[in-house]
Amino acid sequence: MIADDLQSGIARLQDMVAKADVVVPFTGAGISTECGIPDFRSPGGIWTKMRPIEFGDFLASQEMRDESWRRRFAMEEQFGDAKPGRGHLALAALYRAGKVPGVITQNIDNLHQASGIASQDVVELHGNTTYATCLECAKRYELLWVKERYAASGGRSPDCACGGYIKTATVSFGQSMPEAPMQRAHDLTQSCDLFISIGSSLVVWPAAGFPLSAKRNGARLVIVNRDPTEFDDIADLVLRHDIGAVFAPFIAH
Ligand SMILES: [Zn+2]
Repeated sequence: MIADDLQSGIARLQDMVAKADVVVPFTGAGISTECGIPDFRSPGGIWTKMRPIEFGDFLASQEMRDESWRRRFAMEEQFGDAKPGRGHLALAALYRAGKVPGVITQNIDNLHQASGIASQDVVELHGNTTYATCLECAKRYELLWVKERYAASGGRSPDCACGGYIKTATVSFGQSMPEAPMQRAHDLTQSCDLFISIGSSLVVWPAAGFPLSAKRNGARLVIVNRDPTEFDDIADLVLRHDIGAVFAPFIAH
């Protein structure tokens, strides 16, 4: 059912949240656009203009690793200071109220953690771009550490002391999905009686399977997204409105 207008949609969503025992949000790029972070996959987005560096290419050449870090530091200048938006703050309020046990996200921007949700309760399907790890020994490196060495060497990506390559902690195209977050996302999906997909076009598999799995398990499904998705027909409520406007009333929950 598609909400007629913003106000009636919000009222219906508030009612569904109030009646639910366990609410699991699933978030995509749309929740972060009001924070100034572009949706890379959208029409006109960065990845329609510049081909992303695939995992195999990153492993294969020093030039690609250098280019990967060059792009990452350019991103930092654009939106390194991004703050959580209204959608993030609303979910954090529901988390504090005990309604939301954890958030599943396709985003890599760390904004759910910045809004006050504990790191262990943010299930990142595509990793996190706000720090780096060694691909061999998994040692964590801060971006500032990488940036200093990158700059000092004239734009060469540094390696770990163990000899491994250092890469942002994201899941690149061609890199396998992380097992632990996938399992946790599955468990959360099966535990909820209300699943809310927020700002995801639900086209990237296997992540897009979670709303379907929740619905099949008997949960009610709400989809909040600017554009139609292929799951709108099975959703109990669809809100094609601005995410910040939809969730603003939940911030003081
Ligand atoms: Zn290492």
